[in-house]
Amino acid sequence: MKSRQIVLAGAIALILSACGNSSAPAESAAPADAAPAAEAPVEAAPAAEAAPAAEAAPAEAATGSKPATVENCATTLESNDMMQFNADSISVPASCTQFTVNLKHVGKMAANVMGHNVVIAKEADMAGISTDGAADTVNHVKAGDARAIAFTKIIGGGESASVSFDVAKIKDGGPYKFFCSFPGHLALMQGSIQVQQ
Ligand code: ZN
Repeated sequence: MKSRQIVLAGAIALILSACGNSSAPAESAAPADAAPAAEAPVEAAPAAEAAPAAEAAPAEAATGSKPATVENCATTLESNDMMQFNADSISVPASCTQFTVNLKHVGKMAANVMGHNVVIAKEADMAGISTDGAADTVNHVKAGDARAIAFTKIIGGGESASVSFDVAKIKDGGPYKFFCSFPGHLALMQGSIQVQQ
């Protein structure tokens, strides 16, 4: 019993010092628009499991509306090994004639296991593009599929790709979406893309 308490106390001290070291500079460096600061201090709670102290900084929860950062008629989407994009909406400035989507795979898994791409299409065409693209392991978009307004190739962990398209193509007739057409990813990996009014 005593030794367990000592171990726990040590673990808590470790966690506290880890939090102190990592959170202080991170928070002061964070941009002002990182609003949900309230989520930060929750990490200290699971002290009971002493071992995984290294995991004290969990990834942000994947819920809610997360607009992509858009600059100079371009955005960078991150994708990961958990089948997620880091944004669920892209607003294209009306002043842009061309728009570029850069895709990064920040995970480690290979393209044939956890591959990601970005396809731009009408919401109504998403499922058909994914189904028909299943056999094409380079793009997961069938060659010549006119429903795909733009798409990158499939990439694996550590890789990146990008695609540009005419903004006029998503001005009318939407709603339009961006999504990953890798088999089975559509349900989790999609978001809206629209031209700002
Ligand atoms: Zn994917």
